[in-house]
Parts: sequence; C-alpha cells; structure tokens
Amino acid sequence: MALLKIRQFGDPVLRERATEVDRIEDVHRRLVADMLDTMRAAPGVGLAGNQVGVLDRIFVWQNEEESGAFVNPRITHHSSKTEIDDEGCLSIAGLAYPVERSYEVTVAALDMDGRSIEIEAAGHFARICQHEIDHLDGILFIDRLPDELKKEALAILRDQALGLAPVRPPPPEETF
Ligand code: ZN
Repeated sequence: MALLKIRQFGDPVLRERATEVDRIEDVHRRLVADMLDTMRAAPGVGLAGNQVGVLDRIFVWQNEEESGAFVNPRITHHSSKTEIDDEGCLSIAGLAYPVERSYEVTVAALDMDGRSIEIEAAGHFARICQHEIDHLDGILFIDRLPDELKKEALAILRDQALGLAPVRPPPPEETF
C-alpha cells in the first residue's frame, strides 16, 4: 500500500488539463491501486490524477460498497434535472458548499483492461463523476459557486492559510 501526497489548493497542477492515456500499462494499474489506497485513507470517495500530481485522465471512485477507476472519462449525457448538495474536496481541506450538478450523467470511459464502458450514474455517484472530471479539466468545485459564495470561500481559504480560521473537514462522503 502506497499513499500518495494529495495536492492542495494553490498547487498549479490542480489548474492543468490532464491528458488522455493512449495505452493502459502496468504503471497506470499501479497508480490506480495507490490512488484507491490514498482515497480510502484520506478518507474520501473520489480522487483524480491531478490531485496526486499526475496529469493522466484517470480518476478513482467509491460508491457505497463498490469502487473502481475510469480512464479517459467523458460525460456523454447530462440530465436537465439538477440537484444541489454539499460538496467538499480532498484538495481544499476545510470547506464544503452546496453545488448544483446534473442529477444524472452518462459517463463513457475505459476500464483498467482498456475496454470501453458506459455507465449511467445518478445522485451522489453522478456528483462524484462530475467533480472528478472537472478536476481533470483543471476546474475546482468553488468555480461552480455563484460569485458571492466563491468570494466568501476564497476569503475563508485565505484566513485558513494564515491560521485565522479553523479548518473543518467535511464528512468523507462529501469529500472527493
Ligand atoms: Zn476534489
């Protein structure tokens, strides 16, 4: 079991676009095993390549008892129905805010054997997929907040960095 360092807000790697994986090799399988360990130890329920400093389009997830990894994931369908729910991030340690997301998404990806898969996710799992694919595009959940809330979140992060505000990690099931 190898735990990777989770990059934190302010690290430029979180603002990069990760690139497609051409061929899934053993190095990617080892990376995914380490990312799953790191996600569980954090603890959280999703982790994207950027968050461990690797700019490959890969994320790992935990959905109740099931877990897995998607390579080169893309959303092929968003439901028009949306849901607002609290969301935190392993790379933004002490914040959670309500974020509006599509309630259902269809995700096309490769599994770790390189096979094309397509899954339909709803609710919390759909939220994890959208949050992680945002990471792979260099987008953070605070970017999805209305301007006023984003300003407030950035002010709290500044105060936390200066030791002026407490860091209160959200519950693991809201952290990805
Ligand atoms: Zn995150």
